[in-house]
Amino acid sequence: MSENEPDAPGLSLPWAADTFPPVTLAARRQVWDALMGLALHEATHALASDDVPVGALVVGPQGTLLGVGHNRREEGGDPTAHAEVLAIRQAAATLGSWRLDGCTLIVTLEPCAMCAGAITLARIPRVVLGAWDPKAGATGSVWDLVRDRAVLHTVEVIGGVREQECGDLLRGFFEERR
Ligand SMILES: [Zn+2]
Repeated sequence: MSENEPDAPGLSLPWAADTFPPVTLAARRQVWDALMGLALHEATHALASDDVPVGALVVGPQGTLLGVGHNRREEGGDPTAHAEVLAIRQAAATLGSWRLDGCTLIVTLEPCAMCAGAITLARIPRVVLGAWDPKAGATGSVWDLVRDRAVLHTVEVIGGVREQECGDLLRGFFEERR
């Protein structure tokens, strides 16, 4: 897809201008790392409201940025205001459709059961995650709601991208509060 593609909605990202995602594994890894860097930055915005620092973004089939979100549970007193849900809502608004076919969700922490549900409802085919969540993760750790045999829509899960940094951000947050 050309970088001048007029019909690709969202914000163009420099590393995704050619083919998205790239064909070779090494190039793919670079793109996931770069996108996770954006998600990590978004996660730090949660700290302003003393929210657990989790950040997410949704990129479109051509690699454009469609939506971002960070955890706002404390800020809004909203138990469903997880980073993934907010990023998915913004991406759907950008596209003008609830169907996020061909999109990729990047998130610093493994999605919970609610967010795994939202991912399948939005038909998102690929999730790139940073730190695994052994206590509440629902895309492979405690449950695997996106690759269950009963789920018609299966999701490719790429885990452990910049895992150390994503985990350190969370550990630092919780250690400060002990
Ligand atoms: Zn969640």
